[in-house]
This record gives sequence, C-alpha cells and structure tokens, in this order.
Amino acid sequence: ACRPAHHNRRPRVGIMGGTFDPIHNGHLVAASEVAWVYDLDEVIFVPTGRPAFKLNKTVTNAEDRYLMTVIATASNPKFTVSRVDIERPGITYTVDTLRDIKRMRPDSDLFFITGADAVAEIMRWKDANRMWDLAKFVAVSRPGYSSSLDDLQVPAQRVDTLEIPALSISSTDVRRRSARGMPVWYLVPDGVVQYINKHGLYRSAS
Ligand code: ATP
Ligand code: MG
Repeated sequence: ACRPAHHNRRPRVGIMGGTFDPIHNGHLVAASEVAWVYDLDEVIFVPTGRPAFKLNKTVTNAEDRYLMTVIATASNPKFTVSRVDIERPGITYTVDTLRDIKRMRPDSDLFFITGADAVAEIMRWKDANRMWDLAKFVAVSRPGYSSSLDDLQVPAQRVDTLEIPALSISSTDVRRRSARGMPVWYLVPDGVVQYINKHGLYRSAS
C-alpha cells in the first residue's frame, strides 16, 4: 500500500544549465516548477565553464559560481549540482553537457530546462540537431522575453513551453545592484547574499 506511484519507471532528471553569476530566485523557481510539472526525481544544476555566447564578457571564476549554486540548492532534496561543465576544458556547449549527464545517468530520461531567452540561443549552439535525441527541452517563460517558438527552427515534439511564476530577476541586475551598494536580499537566497559580501564579489560593475 505504501508503494510509490512510479516504483519501476525510468528516473526523470532535469538539467538546469546556467552561468549562475550569481544564481538567483528566478533560476530556483524555474527548476522547482519544472520539477513539479514534469514529476522529476532530480534537478541537476550545471554551472557553465566558459559560456559559448558570453565570450566577450567577464565571468566570475567558476569555483565561486559553483559554491553559490551549492549554497542556493542545498536545502532542496531533489536539487544537486554537477561540475561537468566547469571541469571540461574550453567553451561550454550544451550538447557536451547533455552527453556527460547521459553518461552519468544512462537509464534516466533527461529534461533540459531553459528560459525563453536562452532557448533562442540553442540554434546557434554546436551540434544543435544532435541535442533533441538526448533530452526533452522545456522553455520556461521569463518576463521581458517572448515565449513563442514560432520563429525558431526547433522540432515541436522535443521542445515544450511552460508558463511559470514571473520573477523579473537577472544575474546582470543582481551584479549591477551589488556594485552600486543596493540590496539584493530576496532576489537571491540569503546564503548567496552572504557569500557575495564575504568574498567581495561584484564590487565593481562589469
Ligand atoms: P545574466 O544576466 O548574467 O545573463 P541570467 O539571469 O540570464 O544571467 P543565466 O545564468 O544566464 O541567468 O541563465 C540560466 C538559465 O536560467 C537560462 O536558461 C535563463 O533563460 C534562465 N533564467 C534566468 N533568469 C530567469 C528568470 N527570471 N525566469 C525564468 N528563467 C530564467
Ligand atoms: Mg542570461
């Protein structure tokens, strides 16, 4: 009687990729909502190494971004953090992330979680058309960005769009606010506010 409802189905694993510079509550709500709607067993947060589409920007060192991601996700039993992207040399491409996670979770169904803005970048990623076999893509709504996939060359069956609670938060805004001495409480988890202060991150605008 106490048997779980899905006792012998394939595990369902979400992958939340991001620069996480820093991780904020918009990322966490997106992961939580997709986990709920898609009945995921786990969501793996994967901080990027060198993001392919941020090559012209300065990004905080990977270890700080990784640790903030660990701090932000530690209290959720379904959330884990992977170092695959920060340990792979060179530019981070999502297809490599998917292949590495597939290798670690060969018997799982993978769901790649992305915001409405980032899904537009998918088409510019390396081996874009190899990714659809590796994971289902879930493009979550994000304030200020169109949720429509109509203009994108993406296979409809492999990409879902999902409306989630709107949090108008970006890492860029958190960095800018920190540089100006403005509060970032409640935009990022408390432990991340404290980590930023302790390590003097984002003291100057970049
Ligand atoms: P930056 O401003 O530095 O680009 P960001 O806030 O966009 O940071 P990223 O690390 O670039 O954060 O994003 C990781 C993933 O999370 C992307 O797929 C992005 O679309 C998604 N995302 C980020 N913020 C939100 C949000 N507020 N609501 C929904 N999705 C989000
Ligand atoms: Mg972004």
